[in-house]
Amino acid sequence: MSFDLASRLASRRAEDLYRLRPLLDSPQGPEVVVDGQRLLAFCSNDYLGLASHPEVIRALREGAERWGVGGGASHLVIGHSAPHHQLEEALAAFTRRPRALLFSTGYMANLAVVTALIGRGDTVLQDRLNHASLLDAGLLSGARFSRYLHNDTASLAARLDKAEGDTLVISDGVFSMEGDLADLPGLSAAARARGAWLMVDDAHGFGVLGAGGGGCVEHFALGLEEVPVLVGTLGKAFGTAGAFVAGSEELIETLIQFARPYIYTTSQPPAVACATLKSLQLLRDEGWRRQHLRNLIVRFRRGAQELGLTLMDSPTPIQPLLVGDSGRAMRLSARLRERGLLVGAIRPPTVPAGTARLRITLTAAHDEAQVDRLLDGLALAWRELGDD
Ligand SMILES: *Cc1c(COP(=O)(O)O)cnc(C)c1O
Repeated sequence: MSFDLASRLASRRAEDLYRLRPLLDSPQGPEVVVDGQRLLAFCSNDYLGLASHPEVIRALREGAERWGVGGGASHLVIGHSAPHHQLEEALAAFTRRPRALLFSTGYMANLAVVTALIGRGDTVLQDRLNHASLLDAGLLSGARFSRYLHNDTASLAARLDKAEGDTLVISDGVFSMEGDLADLPGLSAAARARGAWLMVDDAHGFGVLGAGGGGCVEHFALGLEEVPVLVGTLGKAFGTAGAFVAGSEELIETLIQFARPYIYTTSQPPAVACATLKSLQLLRDEGWRRQHLRNLIVRFRRGAQELGLTLMDSPTPIQPLLVGDSGRAMRLSARLRERGLLVGAIRPPTVPAGTARLRITLTAAHDEAQVDRLLDGLALAWRELGDD
């Protein structure tokens, strides 16, 4: 018996599924330096361009000078500092929920909520295209686990009828590899009719959707009753790092008491919370970034349509082009890179088999000329590769 890592790696390579990490040698932004090459990037989740905003950087620097660097301990010991607390209060007000709880990553926030709320004898129902962290959380919980058809309320309702114990319905707000919006009013009504709770992970909606950047729940005007468990991440449109859960007083206290991924980890550096307080203010109050982003989305979709490319049904900055075959997606991505464009090829197991795609993301830091450069590059790459 031995670990045959070499053959696992070889077969991943043979299936065009081998992953490499582009080495970034510049800050986040449209123009990046990757592996020594200057490229125009369309793959960051920094949707509002706040990751390199001077005021956010200054807040981080001043936060470090005032509070030091490390969190020092877990929140329950001596790691819960004033900036963390202030950010939780600001996030609760922003999401119009009674309380919010800060986490170091979205992956951990999802593990924490799901494992604290349900266990053996309960049921978790998830959209089959939910983020990996939600699927992993469901498995870890030990609850009965079923996946319903993508964004399909009838498919969810059929599973709800068979559910046992406390039942948690979980959906991405904006699907991370598709860019489409969950039918939250429909999912919420189905869940409530059967006494289940709806949990929404809106990692890609906050900052982008809603007049004030409040994400899917603002877009659909859904309160605590409709969405009792709301998760947001801070590493995307907020441009910093971490995540939060927003909900009732009882929900947050339950997480503090019982959620192991919350209890047994060091708090994030307080200076990061200082930076997020600043980026929250910019995200909420400066709506022009959202407006500019919406204009770029319209421009991109119109151009891609004229080129005959297969767009997905997405009103968000995530604009994937469906390719199908993983090898072809890799070749298209390589062609674009030769022309100075960085676009990620997303392959299984991140997406279902046979649905490899180029995941294009637009940000408010892009301008119209850059979107046009992308469209020109796509036209050329598609022409050069034909129907190989
Ligand atoms: C990125 C993402 C996460 C993970 O958040 P991190 O803070 O990066 O760990 C969770 N859920 C969704 C839907 C995401 O897109």
